[in-house]
Parts: sequence; structure tokens; C-alpha cells
Amino acid sequence: MNETKKYEFKAEVKKLLDILVHSLYTSREIFLRELISNASDALDKLRFESTRGSEIADKDLPLEIKITFDEKKKILTITDSGIGMSRDELITNIGTIAKSGTDEFAKLIAESKGDPSNIIGRFGVGFYSVFMVSKEVIIKTKSYKISEPAIEWKSDGLGDYEITELNDKITRGTTVEIHLKDDAEEFVQKWKLENTIKKHSNFITFPIYLDKDKVNTVSAIWREPKSSIKKEQYDEFYKFLSYDTEPPMDVVHKSVDAPIQFNALLFIPKKSNEYFYYDRENYGLDLYVRRVLIQHKNKDLLPEYLSFVKGVVDSEDLPLNISRETLQENVVFTKIASSVTSNVLSYLQDKAKNNVEGYVEFWKEHGKIFKLGYMDFTNHEKYIELLRFNSSSAKDEKELVSFADYVARIKEGQKEIYYISGTNRDALAVDPHIEIFKNKGLEVLYLYDPVDEFVIQSIRKYKDYELKLVSSVDMKDLKNFQNAEEKKAEVEPLAKDDQKQFYSLLSKMKSILSSRVEDVVESKRLVDSPACLVSKDDSMSAQMKKILKMTKQDVGIEKKILEVNPDHALVRNLVKVFKADSNDEFILKVTEQLMDSALLQEGNLEEPHKLIKRLNEMMEQSSSWYVDLKNIK
Ligand code: ADP
Ligand code: MG
Repeated sequence: MNETKKYEFKAEVKKLLDILVHSLYTSREIFLRELISNASDALDKLRFESTRGSEIADKDLPLEIKITFDEKKKILTITDSGIGMSRDELITNIGTIAKSGTDEFAKLIAESKGDPSNIIGRFGVGFYSVFMVSKEVIIKTKSYKISEPAIEWKSDGLGDYEITELNDKITRGTTVEIHLKDDAEEFVQKWKLENTIKKHSNFITFPIYLDKDKVNTVSAIWREPKSSIKKEQYDEFYKFLSYDTEPPMDVVHKSVDAPIQFNALLFIPKKSNEYFYYDRENYGLDLYVRRVLIQHKNKDLLPEYLSFVKGVVDSEDLPLNISRETLQENVVFTKIASSVTSNVLSYLQDKAKNNVEGYVEFWKEHGKIFKLGYMDFTNHEKYIELLRFNSSSAKDEKELVSFADYVARIKEGQKEIYYISGTNRDALAVDPHIEIFKNKGLEVLYLYDPVDEFVIQSIRKYKDYELKLVSSVDMKDLKNFQNAEEKKAEVEPLAKDDQKQFYSLLSKMKSILSSRVEDVVESKRLVDSPACLVSKDDSMSAQMKKILKMTKQDVGIEKKILEVNPDHALVRNLVKVFKADSNDEFILKVTEQLMDSALLQEGNLEEPHKLIKRLNEMMEQSSSWYVDLKNIK
């Protein structure tokens, strides 16, 4: 008898096991999916080794998965003739967690309200799910490497495991023997096992035998003609592939023959992957060569901004023994990749054109990631046409505007596409900077996703129209556009003397604000507001600067210009006060209040308490006037 050695699970494994064992899950059956998926991976790896010409133990063993069960003893076993594991591999693969992130995993499990089925698979911790149903697990495994001995691994999943070298002659592959907990005995019932395999593992490419009967029936559906496949089959395959519980939003099934042959079956999920930020690496398409899986989650078939797409690509024209490391340098592969990408973009173009509502849904879910495509210069034209924004012409937050929509209704003589950025539609709709644009019926794109402005700044132009931030538009350029409402005309212009007083008032205001502003000037853009701030150099919006500041990039303290609207009733009154006493305290208060309000508007007010204090004083005063006015005792 060989010596048995005890090992302790790594701390993060213990923590994970604790979560899995001590919670009652509704979908414990997924442990079977995970074990079958591991068996299938092991078979894929073996096939990969053999195409590379490695020397392999038990060379002629068929590649398959066998499941047997003992109803009396409540034992379930899953056997594969895959790659197997050596002692060292056992210790690193099962005993530690390769990826960091147990904490995030625990958090997600907690948030998932008892249904961790899709989280477990995605996190690459599938094996441990076996402890949801077992009191003891015994693994017997023999590596494909001829010199490696067979190994037994045993654990109750509580804190440690034992490893023993086996003397018995064991053929290549792995057997997982599960001693079921009393409350999990349904997993030695044939119908339950059969249902579970059909539900979760139907598309496994190796045969799965349950007590001699082959259970999985489906072939590589991406190779079948489109017309022969029903929606249910697509949905089922998608769920198998993605661990999603819902059917996909879109199915793109392509069969391309020239110049390079490939089949692609791609899916766009209904919901964006909410784990995306925890699990950044979990994307990519499965690459097959002549039905043989070459690589799971290949990340070079599609650019990252299309990483929400799931699916498989299978080609006849790549060599079976291609190595994953050199894929990117393979000309055939890169051609397939660019064709897959352009197929996805064309699909989206069609969708945007023929199913506007559907495209809105798509944009809501995946737009955030899609926007990151501004770096894809090869597909720039298509990318730009697929972008969407909200705008001052949209009737509500939901309506989306493309550049083409904008240009289709652009005013005669308008050479620029205007945009403004801020925190949300409501705030932008009342932003003083767009008053004149609204008044002249000029459409302004609303950017309220932080990434929007990066996108706009990098694309700069749509066709011949320059993209321009409203506050950097030269007001002279707007002269030729008629006022839609003629609001400005309703106000009597200032009398000549008052005009002079107004300019003196502006100087006074400048001296009050002194170092806080670059200048105080008459505004040509304001209609309804008394004042607003603009930059000297406004290639970057206040919003963008705020973002850069948050990300700790120093953009320097920039002094702005305060623009004052001479036609506003408040300003007219100020002129009167100023005429009577140019040093009146009231002018000081109002000036500072206007400045702080303008800062607040753009989200850059740093000392709100001062504004509030002043506002309260003013309200107190006006309440006295109000009481007098109403003759209240
Ligand atoms: P994942 O499959 O995402 O890597 P798992 O927890 O399911 O995570 O499995 C951990 C590792 O254990 C696998 O990556 C693999 O190296 C090894 N393993 C599990 N089951 C088998 C098996 N049947 N044959 C060979 N190796 C296996
Ligand atoms: Mg696994």
C-alpha cells in the first residue's frame, strides 16, 4: 500500500466550499453540468495533444464520457477518457483557485438569491459545486503521460483532502466518484440524471453514456443549413453555451464559402453581462476546426467592443494542429476574424434600419460596450452609423438619434453638429448654454454617458460636419439662423445710457469676483437665464474636465468667463440698483449668487454652504417683502 498524504485546501477554496456547502440551492443539479463540462474539456485537451503528435497512454481508448450510478449505495460516478491529471496537477487544479476573485464570487452568490447556477460556471470554480450534493468525493485519475502513475484524491469538502498513489492498472482519464448526501439521492435515479444531462449538456460534442445508453443527441448545429434549424434549437444551444437563463436577443447564423470557408453561429444576449466588470476576461468565441474545438473563448475573432457576442466559429481552412499561440499570425485566421466582425456589424446595420425598436433595446443593453469601438479604424464608417445619442429633438429619454437622423433634419447653412454633455437629459434640457440653440431650432446632441465625450472627441467629424461642443460655438456663426420664437425681440433693448451703465456693472461684477473669473461679459447666447459660465478654450466640456479630475488627471484650475444676459429681468433690476448706488451691498450678493449658481449648474461648485447661506438670507428678505406686499399681519 502506498503512503497517503494529507493536504489542506487553500484558504480561498475553504471559503468557497463553505459558501457552497452551507447554502441550500434550488439548482443543485448544475454540479452535473460542471463535471460533464470538465470531462469534455479533458477530452478536448487530449484530442489537442494527439493532433500535436504527443505520445499518449492508451492511445486507442474511445473519447467518451460514461455515467453510472448505484441506487443502493447512493454513489454516482462520472468517467472520461480525457487528459487525466498528475499528482502536481491535481494539487494545483483542485485545491487552489487559479483566478483570484473569491470575494467577488461570494458577493455575487449572495446577491443571486439562491440561484448561483450561471455564476458558478462563469467563474471557473465548477468542480467545487460537487460538494453541494456530496458527503465524500473520490477522484481516480491517470494522466495521458505514460510515465505518470495513477492517483487517488479523496475529500469530504470540509477542510482537507488526501492523495494516494495507486498501484492498480488504471486506464487514461478521470473518474469522479460521488457519495451523495442523504438529501441528494435523486441523483441516482435514471430519469433525473437523463433529464439533467439533456437540459444542460445536450450539446457536448463527445458521446455521454448513461448506463450504456447514449443520452446527448445533438450534433454541431452551426454546420447545419439555417433552414433546418428551429428557433428552439438555437435557444437551447445558446443557453448551453452562455449559461444564460433567457433566450438570446438575436441569432446570426452565417455560412461563408469564399474566399475562406467558415461557419459562424453567433448570439447577442438579451441582457448585458452584469458580471462584466468582475469578470473582465470572460468573453470570446469558441473556435473549431472541422468540428474539433481548438480554443474556448478566443478573444481575437471579434474586437473587444463586440465582446457581448457569444457563439462559435468553425472553419475547414485552418490546420487541425494549429497552435493557439500562433493563431493571431495566421493569415487565414485573421481573414476569418475580420469577416466575422464585419458580419456582426452588417447585422446590426440591418437591425438598426429594419427594426428600430429592437435596435433601441440592443443599444440600451450593449451600447455602453459598443461605444468603445471608436478605436476600430478599419470599420470606422460602419461604427459611426451605428452610434446613437439622445438630443434636444428627441421627444423623451428613450428616443435615439443617429448622426444620419441629425443630418437629415439639419438647418440650411448649418455646418456643424452641436453637442452638450452633462449628467442627464433633464439637466441638459435646461442648461443655459443651449438656450440660443433651442430658440433657433438647432438640434443639440445630449451626451450623458461619460464615455460619449471620448467617442465624440475621437471621431471629430461625421461626413463633412464637424462635431462641436455648444459652449465653443462662435455666437457669430448663429446669426443667420432665425429665432424660432422671437423671444429676444420682445424685450426692449437697453437705452443708450443704460447700456453704458450695464457695461460698468459688468466691470463692477468682475471686480467683485476678482480672481474667480477670467472676465465678465455680455452674453449673446442666453435667453431664459441671467448668467452662465463659458471657457476661453472650450474644446473640453465642464463634464469632461470633471471626469478627468475624478480620475485624478490634473487638468489645472481653469478660470472661466461669466456671461451675463442684459435682457433678463434680474439684470435689468441690477442696472437700476447700480445706477442709484454703484456700491450697493445687493449687487455684491447677487453677483456671487449668480457665479455660484453657474458653477452648481455645471457640477463644479466646491463650497455649496456659501450659496445656501446667501440663498437663505435672500429668502428671508423676500419673505418680509412678501408679507408686506400681501398685507399679512
Ligand atoms: P474550470 O473547469 O473552469 O477550469 P473547475 O473547477 O471546473 O474549473 O476545474 C478546475 C480544473 O481541474 C480544470 O481546469 C482542470 O484542469 C481540472 N479538472 C477538473 N476535472 C477534470 C477532469 N475530468 N479531467 C482532467 N482535469 C480536470
Ligand atoms: Mg469546469
